[in-house]
Amino acid sequence: MPGTVHVVGAGLAGLAAAVRLAGRGRSVVVHEAAGQAGGRCRSYHDPALDMVIDNGNHLLLSANHAALSYLETIGSGGRLAGPEAADFAFMDLASGERWTLRINAGRLPWWILSARRRVPGTGAGDYLAFARLLFAGRGRTIRETVRCAGPLYERLARPLWLAALNTEPKEGSAELAAAIIRETLAAGGSACRPLIARDGLGPIFVEPALRLLGERGVEIRFGHRLRALEFGAGKVVVLDFGEDKAVLDSEDGVVLAVPPVAAADMVPNLTTPSQFRAIVNAHFRVAPPPGLAPVVGVVNGTIEWLFGFPDRLSVTISAADRLLNVPRETLAQRIWQEVAAVAGLPEALPPWQIVREIRATFAATPGENAKRPGARTAWNNLFLAGDWTQTGLPATIEGAIRSGNRAADLVGGM
Ligand SMILES: Cc1cc2nc3c(=O)[nH]c(=O)nc-3n(C[C@H](O)[C@H](O)[C@H](O)COP(=O)(O)OP(=O)(O)OC[C@H]3O[C@@H](n4cnc5c(N)ncnc54)[C@H](O)[C@@H]3O)c2cc1C
Repeated sequence: MPGTVHVVGAGLAGLAAAVRLAGRGRSVVVHEAAGQAGGRCRSYHDPALDMVIDNGNHLLLSANHAALSYLETIGSGGRLAGPEAADFAFMDLASGERWTLRINAGRLPWWILSARRRVPGTGAGDYLAFARLLFAGRGRTIRETVRCAGPLYERLARPLWLAALNTEPKEGSAELAAAIIRETLAAGGSACRPLIARDGLGPIFVEPALRLLGERGVEIRFGHRLRALEFGAGKVVVLDFGEDKAVLDSEDGVVLAVPPVAAADMVPNLTTPSQFRAIVNAHFRVAPPPGLAPVVGVVNGTIEWLFGFPDRLSVTISAADRLLNVPRETLAQRIWQEVAAVAGLPEALPPWQIVREIRATFAATPGENAKRPGARTAWNNLFLAGDWTQTGLPATIEGAIRSGNRAADLVGGM
């Protein structure tokens, strides 16, 4: 009889691991330090706006097969909203130009031959020059691999990598940038459709998973922070939660799906990323005007992506450490001026909220990427999961879910 698996951390990595294990009939207990699940991908009621919002806008792409399959499993299949085709509306705030990038569905990228589909100011040859990235050696930055200037860089590559890496692309890992290109643009438009959780991250990614786990008899213990692990004979033998302890049987396993700083505190000699980048989200309680695309990429502004939800407009700014000390009111005003210009709305500031996630993701530089551990540890019943483990992707929902799946497979095969 296989033992119990203790999943520590109910972010998406932990939830994915628990869902997979419970689906295979394993006995699972989930321990979460916070009072709610979802970690960095959660919804909450915001008193300033008096509405339920997400901690941050999360953009997925149709290439995110692990995330989509997780959603199918928990009963949220088809609930992400997005256009039928890989169309991306853009605006350049400096020039006022607007365009729509239209990536054709198949693998043969004929969209780069069409001036009506590709980025204005670019030619087909510019795109081929970026293919060099796909053969970048390990440990190199994007700047060391391709030319980080010109319209293609400023209007497509930089916004894409900045969003995916949450790191200024010039210092970003070429290997991680290449992974994004390989799974999206190089795979054709059917892999690039933008998808958003219009009904909220909690209702789509988290609550259905908790429901499913409950139906399968999984105990989820909120407010249950793991304080320490005790080791013996090549295994974890005790989970120490401070007020109580779980003593493990010889068949029991552990999936540690906590952020890197917490994991490094508890697992001896574990090397993890230790530099992080912030993400700033601004939410405005105003309905999107008719005709505004659900997601608009913005270049030459403070804002980078504008998301339209039924009852609000929300903005994402990645690698936003430079904004952490800007007074909130000033920031809200500055961001709203740009949103108003993109959306064609009056300049009067509507009700707003600014959410700053200081350690939103690890810094996707070559140095930090090299510090990511695999799922296996020196203890044969302890496996790691989380977007910061060695997934081959930057810190994303897709990476987090793949890591949870992998840890579940490994602990299941113990
Ligand atoms: C503002 C923002 C915007 C983002 N935008 C995007 C996007 O557009 N697209 C995309 O794909 N990704 C995006 N991401 C990244 C994505 O949210 C993360 O990659 C993903 O949610 C990470 O999941 P995780 O399970 O690895 O980690 P976490 O979500 O950090 O989960 C770890 C969990 O462990 C718990 N925990 C910590 N310590 C303990 C302990 N000692 N004991 C028990 N539990 C513990 C935490 O409370 C938490 O619930 C964004 C992130 C942020 C913050």
